[in-house]
Formats: sequence, structure tokens, C-alpha cells
Amino acid sequence: MKILMLVLDGGGDVGKKTPYEIARKPNMSALAAKGACGLLDICYKGTPQSDFGYLSLLGFYSKETYPGRGYLEALGLGMEDIRESDVCIRGNFATLGANGNILDRRAGRDETGLEELTERLDGIEIDGVHFFLKKSAGHRVVIVMRPLDENVKLSENVESNDPEEEGVPVLQFKAKNAEAKFTSSVLNKFVFKTGKMLSTESVNKERKFPANVILMRGFSRKTAVEPFKKKYGMRSCCIGGIPIIKGVAAFLGMDIITVPGATGYPDTNLKGKFEKAAEAMKAYDFVLLHINGTDILSHDAKRDEKTGFIEKIDGQLGGLMKAVDMKNTAIVITSDHRTASDPAYKLYRHTGDPVPVLVAGDGIKPGIARKFDEKSCECGFMIKGNDLIPFVLRQSK
Ligand SMILES: [Zn+2]
Repeated sequence: MKILMLVLDGGGDVGKKTPYEIARKPNMSALAAKGACGLLDICYKGTPQSDFGYLSLLGFYSKETYPGRGYLEALGLGMEDIRESDVCIRGNFATLGANGNILDRRAGRDETGLEELTERLDGIEIDGVHFFLKKSAGHRVVIVMRPLDENVKLSENVESNDPEEEGVPVLQFKAKNAEAKFTSSVLNKFVFKTGKMLSTESVNKERKFPANVILMRGFSRKTAVEPFKKKYGMRSCCIGGIPIIKGVAAFLGMDIITVPGATGYPDTNLKGKFEKAAEAMKAYDFVLLHINGTDILSHDAKRDEKTGFIEKIDGQLGGLMKAVDMKNTAIVITSDHRTASDPAYKLYRHTGDPVPVLVAGDGIKPGIARKFDEKSCECGFMIKGNDLIPFVLRQSK
């Protein structure tokens, strides 16, 4: 048996008449009618984060082996020569106003010139530490700190400089323990130095929100985990547009398949991604197909567009179902978390509610819930994210 796992990032929603409920999705409905629907508890404590969610859906979330967001993002950008002595960090370009307070934590989500600015800062050295920088999705950047010799010891036990609100100054990095004092001091110098460099860059004069400071979090180190192949005995690959899903896949030893035009936005090359997934089903036992646009449209409060995007995804899913051997394939459709697009809910953010999941195909027995939307899934099975793949494997035996 082979498994195709389709992850619609932030696909599940809240409120009345959700995009899943409204969307005309004949292919998902046909699968649901023959299969089983339910809810998946990703076991979020605090704010739901996608990397945690992906690891949970794949059966790999544990506090002991979770490496931290910085390392996963770095892997996703192909910075794979990372060493154990390095510290990896996830950064945001942000905007400081004339009064020194943060004006926009995401520098207006404007990518103009960010590639150029990142290149300018790449390679800075401070107190025996080399800084590698690489631009990530949107306003994000990954920073890898590397000691220039073995006498320099770095620590990931540093508190972020991001106050997580606007209208206040950037925080100083703080060491969580004595070993981290050197690292936090170097990071404070880095923010000061890069802030000065960024403020004089000409590209920033063209931007409505100049990218003149970097907020950093997700301090982490290279760690290893039991590979996907060893855990499940399945050859696996990942098709996705954004660095973090690729990073999680690389962390688990899955192959990464790139598709031209896979942007991670609603304008992504859906057709190309589904065609590549159908092709990959021949060579692999497990294909993870990740679509990010559903999350973006929720954050942007575009509930109707999200509904339309789900309909487009459903259309492409139909093509895939024709192209693969459905007698030997189980299809799983779910999300890493819900993202609220409902105006009544006010905050267009991730929610920690259990996510709808649909399992259908080879050997999957029909469940009690056979409609794929939030309300219908409440009547079906309920399992933990980490148990999803074992559940599908058990079902199809
Ligand atoms: Zn999101």
C-alpha cells in the first residue's frame, strides 16, 4: 500500500459556514463517502506552529527530538553543511520607526530588495563568530552563527529580541544561563551593526517600510532523529513550496522534489505540484504534498478566496486520482493546524483546535463520518497527530 498525504496548511477553519463546508469539492466528497473522516489532535500547547504540526502529522513530534525552528528553516533552505557547533536562528526583517520603536514586525511583508540586503549582511564576523545569512520565504531570513575556532563556544539558550508587538523598542538578547552570555552579547552587537548597515542601504529608500532591523527567535542546533524510512519502512518524498516543510522533510531524511512555480502562495503551480505527486507515487511509498496558500488566505481574511482555492485543489486532486493506482493507494487529507478566516472571530490566526482529517482508499473501511468538513468530522474518529500514519497503516491491513 502507498500513501499520499495532502496537507492544506491552515485548511481547517472556525465559525459558521467554513470554506470546507461551502466549497464544491466533488473529489474530496467522493473520497470521504467511501472512507472515514475525523479529527486529529495535534496536541498544541500555546500558539500553534507549522513545524510542530508537520512533525506531528508525520508521527515525529517529541520534545526530546524537536530541534527548533531555526535549524529546520536552515535545512529547508539547503544550508545542509551545518555543524554541531553552529547555532541556527529564524529571523524577520522588521521596520523601526524614527522614534526607535517597532513600526512593523514584518517590514510591510514587502520582499523588495530583501535578497540584496541579505547578501550584504552575509559573512559578517564578530568576536570570532561568522554569520551566514540566507533569505527565506517572504520577510524571513535564516541566520547561522559559526565559531571561527574551537575556543569559541556558542549556545542556543538565548531569549529573543522580538517583543512580539509593535510600538515598543526591540529587546536586548538575554542569556538564559551563564554559558549563553557570550552568544547573547555577540547577537546584540550583530543587531546593532546590521541595523547601522541596513539604514544606509539605498534599496531601503525605495521601500515604504524600510527593512532596518532583524528580529530573531528559534535558536537551535543540529540534531538527529530516526529517519522516516527506518520508522515506517517506506520510501518517502515531499513536494512543497515553502522552506519549513522542506526543512522538516530533510530532517526526517525524506527526498525533496522541487516543482517550478511552487511559490507557497495562492498563485502557486497547483497543476505542476499534483502532476509531480502522481508521478512520485510510482517511485515512492509515501508522498507528502503540502499546499500553503490556504493558510495565507486565512491570515489575509480572504474567506471566499480560500473557498475558491480549495475548489481548485479539489480539481487537481481529481486528476491525481485518475493518474494513480487507487487500488493500492490511501489518500489522507488534513492540515497542520486551523487558521481562522472568519471575521466574527476577529483574529486571523492559527488556532489549536483539532483539525479535520479524511482517510480513504486502499483497504480503508468506511467510518461513521463520511463528509469532509469541520462539523461532520466531529462525529468521526479522534486520534492524535503522531498516530495518524500508524492508524492508516493499521486500517489498510
Ligand atoms: Zn500561518
